[in-house]
Amino acid sequence: MSISITQLQGVGAKTAAHLKRLNITTIEELLFHLPIRYEDRSHVKPIAHLAVGDNALIEGTIQASEIKSHKSGRGRSLICLFSDSSGSMMLRFFHFNQKLVASLKPGTHLRCFGEVRQGYHCLELIHPEFKQLNANETLFIEHFTAIYPTTEGLYQTTLRTLIQQAFNYLTTNEIIDYLPPEILTERQFPTLADALQIIHYPTTEAIVKQLQEKQHIALHRLAFEELLAHHLSLRVLHQYAQHRQAPQLNNNGHLVQTLLTQLSFNLTSAQQRVYAEIAADLRQPHPMQRLLQGDVGSGKTVIAALSALQAIESGYQVAVMSPTELLSEQHKNTFVQWLSTFEISISWLTGQLTKKQRTTTLNDIVSGSSALILGTHALFQKEVEFNRLGLVIIDEQHRFGVHQRLALHDKGNQNGLYPHQLIMTATPIPRTLAMTAYANLDISVIDELPPGRTPVNTAIIPNSRREEVVERIKQVCQQGRQAYWVCPLIEESETLQLQAASEIAEQLRLSLSELRIGLLHGRMKAKEKEQVMADFKSQNLDLLVATTVVEVGVDVANASLMIIENAERLGLAQLHQLRGRVGRGSEQSYCLLLYQPPLSSLQKSRLAAIRDIHDGFIIAQTDLELRGAGEVLGVKQAGITNLRVANLQQDKALLEHIQIVGKILLETQPDNCQRLIDRWIQKNWKYVGLTH
Ligand code: ADP
Ligand code: MG
Repeated sequence: MSISITQLQGVGAKTAAHLKRLNITTIEELLFHLPIRYEDRSHVKPIAHLAVGDNALIEGTIQASEIKSHKSGRGRSLICLFSDSSGSMMLRFFHFNQKLVASLKPGTHLRCFGEVRQGYHCLELIHPEFKQLNANETLFIEHFTAIYPTTEGLYQTTLRTLIQQAFNYLTTNEIIDYLPPEILTERQFPTLADALQIIHYPTTEAIVKQLQEKQHIALHRLAFEELLAHHLSLRVLHQYAQHRQAPQLNNNGHLVQTLLTQLSFNLTSAQQRVYAEIAADLRQPHPMQRLLQGDVGSGKTVIAALSALQAIESGYQVAVMSPTELLSEQHKNTFVQWLSTFEISISWLTGQLTKKQRTTTLNDIVSGSSALILGTHALFQKEVEFNRLGLVIIDEQHRFGVHQRLALHDKGNQNGLYPHQLIMTATPIPRTLAMTAYANLDISVIDELPPGRTPVNTAIIPNSRREEVVERIKQVCQQGRQAYWVCPLIEESETLQLQAASEIAEQLRLSLSELRIGLLHGRMKAKEKEQVMADFKSQNLDLLVATTVVEVGVDVANASLMIIENAERLGLAQLHQLRGRVGRGSEQSYCLLLYQPPLSSLQKSRLAAIRDIHDGFIIAQTDLELRGAGEVLGVKQAGITNLRVANLQQDKALLEHIQIVGKILLETQPDNCQRLIDRWIQKNWKYVGLTH
């Protein structure tokens, strides 16, 4: 059905251009252009019962028609007095030709559809859609009429006629159903052609209601297909990487063993398990594509260090990429400390280097004398050339998109060998969702915190008790500890938000004049932000007031109090991430959630959940149940949000099955997989960065 739409009657260059704007170039694409709503044209209303604003179907006879000049002197209208047995109204046309005038002669029997407006003398329909009826044709029942998303200059009626024509093609040309018949039977799905027929032309009010509430099986069927297409596209990316060659980092693990004996702690069993998974991948001749998920503080950094040593022992370079300079410095310090007994040369590619230092560093990287290289995405600038890059570790993955990661993969290509990739994220995401959203990656999870952590004590406090909160800050800071005050983005406008934060900082400076208070907001330059964070880290500030999310992953162990304003407006995952900024030292930490009463019941359950639950994965699961998947942080970051029919929350019951079906299809019908991907996913998305 990849027949061009220009084969349809009435599609000239102009209409084709309009359709192109809706991404429609083929008849099949036209069939997949789904209605946004339906209008009820199954009941004819008596004119006497009409109200202004109704979209109504009426039936009657033209009593009189005339062409009137407008009072303004500009233009003319065709006006018809139209009546049924209950009353009369006007039909008004601003654009008309002789043909129209002729077809609206007095005595003509019509069925009209349009929006009812208040006219000068009586109710009017402006430019109604109409159909002439023969005297004995009055009981003809129409479908509910689908209303489509459209673009300027393309009329609903045009779209409707074209879609009708497309359906006529279906009788002679098959639209290929890529879902295997077993699945249709098992899930009791209609065939693709039937599903489309139902969605475009629902026949009863009950069906329309189900469609509008997204409950109809015809929509579930399309949702299944769409999610399957997304899943397949990610699996294809995965396979693509699997066809590439990577260095086999196979060695006797001497460096790894040495580090393990030197650490002041033992790995948790979760850390041992995920390291074993990574180590096995690194020995393969194909690039690892692995996502390491672990809650804040679960100990991902040491896993990164062990993986790095495995690559270095085999004579390869390792790049560790962080989202900000500050985080990259933090990693540099940790690695320098852990690896101090090894003769491993470490380079930190920071913006703070002088020109000369930078040149030296770049030389060390290209000559291969430096084995471990840390930095931000600046690591992947043109001037940076690696010698033998074997492993790339990306921390806090969500700051980098899929495409950036692919570009990075290509950059590491040397003599046909691609580096392994380890992506680390602290954003927990429920398992079934992870397997969909990250289907291009293998997943390892650290589902256990190191022993001896005290959970952050969390309290929910109404705004009326702010003074107590301020007093609390005073106490904490006087004991030499530090605090955060976060004002999350609640206003549409960043300026208003900034104003709110600055005002809070000012108020706090007045009431806490003995404390050193810093302000961090989105409008500051990166350098200024980092300076404020650095001051906080080095304890030159006692309290940090911040608008947007405080740098993910920033580790200030001395901070023990987190205050979150408007906590009721935030999602659970964000609250959990923010709370994770404290509780990093050995002492008890606190998180105070300030809210503005009254709370809705959803807000109440959310705040109670964050107070009572400390495990990030359980929080993510709860978030999913309370709010829906599109809002679950990790899913948003993974980018499966532009779904047309499916909804990850409503259709989550399909996900497990989709993984199974996806696997079978990839093995047995790879060509159909590609066609399914083409059908559902924007064509230019697929292979960005994979074009050679
Ligand atoms: P994250 O997963 O958030 O990056 P980190 O790797 O920064 O967590 O680890 C948090 C802290 O826990 C660090 O100080 C780290 O040295 C320590 N740590 C990591 N693993 C263990 C362990 N098995 N036992 C005790 N402490 C650990
Ligand atoms: Mg970390």
